[in-house]
Amino acid sequence: MISVLNQYSRYQRGLSMEDLFPKREDNTCACGCGNLLYGRKRKWYSQTCMHNSLTQFQIIKGDTSVIREELFKLDGGFCRSCGVYDEKWQADHILSVSEGGAACSLDNFQTLCSCCHKEKTKALNRIPNSSDVFASGLNLSKFPLSPFGTNYNTFSKHVKRRTVIIA
Ligand SMILES: [Zn+2]
Ligand SMILES: [Zn+2]
Repeated sequence: MISVLNQYSRYQRGLSMEDLFPKREDNTCACGCGNLLYGRKRKWYSQTCMHNSLTQFQIIKGDTSVIREELFKLDGGFCRSCGVYDEKWQADHILSVSEGGAACSLDNFQTLCSCCHKEKTKALNRIPNSSDVFASGLNLSKFPLSPFGTNYNTFSKHVKRRTVIIA
C-alpha cells in the first residue's frame, strides 16, 4: 500500500497519478501490465492502459461520479443485499470509511438500495467498529409503520405549533 493514502479519508487530497503509477525503471508500462514500451511510448503501452489507470486513480482518490459510473457498470443499480433495483441506489463502502475502507479500488464498493443503505448506516452507528452486523443478516427493518402510532394527530398538531413558534 502506498504511504500517501489515508484509509480513513473519503477523499485523497493531493494524490497524483504519479503516486499510484510512477514511470517504471524497467521500461515496462506504468499500469503494471508488463508490456515493454517501444518506439515513442514513454509511460503507457496503450490508450487502454492509460485510461484504465486513470479510472483506477479516480476511484482511489474518491471521485464519486467515477465510482458511481463504474459501479453501475457492475451492478446496474441492483442492490447487492436484497436484489431490488433502486433508481436512488447508493455506492456503499463494504468496509466502511470509519474502519479504514477508504482509498480503495472498486472491490470495496457495492450497490445498495436506499433502504438497505439506511439500515447498514444505522447498524454501524449503533455498534461501532462492526461492519459485519449487516453481513450477519441481523434484521433491523422491523419498525412500526407509523413512528407516531395512534398519537399521530396530536403529534402533527404539536409540530405545527412548534413551526409557528420557530417561524
Ligand atoms: Zn499497461
Ligand atoms: Zn436493498
